Amino acid sequence: MGLMKGKRGIIFGVANDRSIAWSIAEVCKREGAEIGITYLGEAMAKRVVPLGEKLGAAFTLSCDATDDAEIQAVIDASAEIWDGIDFIVHSVAYAKKEELKGKFYDTSKEGFQLAMTASVYTLISICRIAEPRLTDGAGILTMSYLGAERVMPHYNVMGVAKAALEASVRYLAVDMGQRGIRVNGISAGPIRTLAAAGISDFKEILNWNRDNAPMRRNISQQEVGESSLLFLSDMGSGVTGEIMHVDAGYHVVGMRAVDE
Ligand code: NAD
Repeated sequence: MGLMKGKRGIIFGVANDRSIAWSIAEVCKREGAEIGITYLGEAMAKRVVPLGEKLGAAFTLSCDATDDAEIQAVIDASAEIWDGIDFIVHSVAYAKKEELKGKFYDTSKEGFQLAMTASVYTLISICRIAEPRLTDGAGILTMSYLGAERVMPHYNVMGVAKAALEASVRYLAVDMGQRGIRVNGISAGPIRTLAAAGISDFKEILNWNRDNAPMRRNISQQEVGESSLLFLSDMGSGVTGEIMHVDAGYHVVGMRAVDE
């Protein structure tokens, strides 16, 4: 315990208590971190502001991460209470529901741009805008999915966005590495959350993963939270540009041998 003692960080992307961002916030808090959380737009305030209070968050702010001025406002708010930022979590993604079904080639140009802007460019903006306030050795973490590497049913434009996100992690790792700042990602297995609800037949994906993963189960938000400690604490001080799968091993499976 106490792995995050003395660390101060911002967690972007809390929608509710099922959000991966929320589990990461809870785990980091338990380990001694001071945390600011953000949510998208005032419509979410009703749910997220009480969560911030429950957590004892240093601040709970609305932030549309597609707007650089709103990111800057969050960074400025942190500067009023902290003399630096030790970690950032980017747990933000969006695609229009109609893009998450049917044929990938039917993705509209507008839907493509929206998914890339909200799910990828937001990480790039956050890194650039936060950089002057980041402490040496700070940890940045984003959330990806196996759809970046392989075709997953209905994941479509989000798969392409996650591939771009994972490539961005590597480029950002180079941009930010000189001060020991690390940029990494977790490729999480499927979890029932608000974002996942937008993917057609998501239940099928959950069942398939459960039945075929080496560990024969799905993972929880809490497990992603616990794994995030590797990248956000000093345990991962030598790790950057990495995407770690937290998926009960599903990514290693081609066709599972019949063993029953
Ligand atoms: P979630 O809906 O709880 O979180 C997604 C968050 O993105 C929400 O808080 C939403 O408000 C925020 N967001 C969307 N557009 C935004 C914008 N313009 N500015 C700021 N915030 C914005 O769902 P989640 O499953 O916890 O998703 C978190 C991350 O984990 C996403 O990147 C998602 O792709 C990734 N992920 C999820 C799963 C899964 O199965 N749930 C698996 C792998 C990766």
